[in-house]
Amino acid sequence: MLPQRSPDSALVCHAGTRQHGYIARRRKRASNIVGETMRICRFNGNRLGLVEGDQIIDVTPALEAIPAQHWPLPRYDLLIANLPAVLARANAIKATAPRLALNSVLLNSPVANPSKIVNAPINYQKHIDEAVTDTGIAHGRDLKGKHISDWGLFLKASSALIGFGEPVRLRKADRRNDHEIELAVIIGKEANKVKAADALNYVAGYSIGLDMTIRGPEFQCFRKSVDTYAPMGPWMVTADEIPNPNALDLAIWVNGEARQKSNTSQLVYNVNRLIEYATEWYTLYPGDIIFTGTPEGVGPVKPGDTMTCEIQGIARWDVHVAPEFAG
Ligand code: MN
Repeated sequence: MLPQRSPDSALVCHAGTRQHGYIARRRKRASNIVGETMRICRFNGNRLGLVEGDQIIDVTPALEAIPAQHWPLPRYDLLIANLPAVLARANAIKATAPRLALNSVLLNSPVANPSKIVNAPINYQKHIDEAVTDTGIAHGRDLKGKHISDWGLFLKASSALIGFGEPVRLRKADRRNDHEIELAVIIGKEANKVKAADALNYVAGYSIGLDMTIRGPEFQCFRKSVDTYAPMGPWMVTADEIPNPNALDLAIWVNGEARQKSNTSQLVYNVNRLIEYATEWYTLYPGDIIFTGTPEGVGPVKPGDTMTCEIQGIARWDVHVAPEFAG
């Protein structure tokens, strides 16, 4: 395992190297539906942490703020639905809570049980352009002059979701297995028929998403729903840390080689419009995730590869591909 770095130390470590670092900015702290500015992680399976520098503050007892549940369980994520109460409790105990080294824990997906993972296809123009010329991406589907309004949204199975501490286990060795880095939006409260201007008020936070993809002729919901093909992490940054999600640099390297580099300002449908678009058709629940689409530069990975993912204001973090294909 390569050493993992906190976002702040990554910026220092990589300044001046060929892997550029993004400029750290102090952001104005404002209140949102979460009410606190925090980096929230789930680790070692069932632990809740706050990330500070290269440490995790173990605030697991704050989960007691989640009301007891009975069958049938609600169709939303219990942590995200109760986030204000959990974070208030976490704040009250954090001064005396145990601290762990970030690189000593296994990071799971910050959302444990999303009801759905909504995905935006063909949502960066330069990715649409590359899919027209590289037939290995779109497999005969005609993309000329098309964008997201022609295709709508698709869902990835929530069983594909993993955290950044878990390896991607590739299947179908005879197929092209591609990385797609995407800004992941985590919905904070029930949203139906939301207008774009109001949409960010429904966001709990942001994370880095990897829409891992087996290329081929089948529908996206099938090819992109393989177990472990939806890594999200390394943590959730609460929405008040990112006042404008539509102006974030994002990039991915594979074994140190630059692959994708863009900015969410290049989205065809931006975050606001994606929430409006999705909720024209169905309700979004707390913990639902929107993978907002991938820019140009998608390409294959193989067993043993390391994908270094970075989104401005969230993190730079490595995701590993398991050394063997899944049996
Ligand atoms: Mn995608």
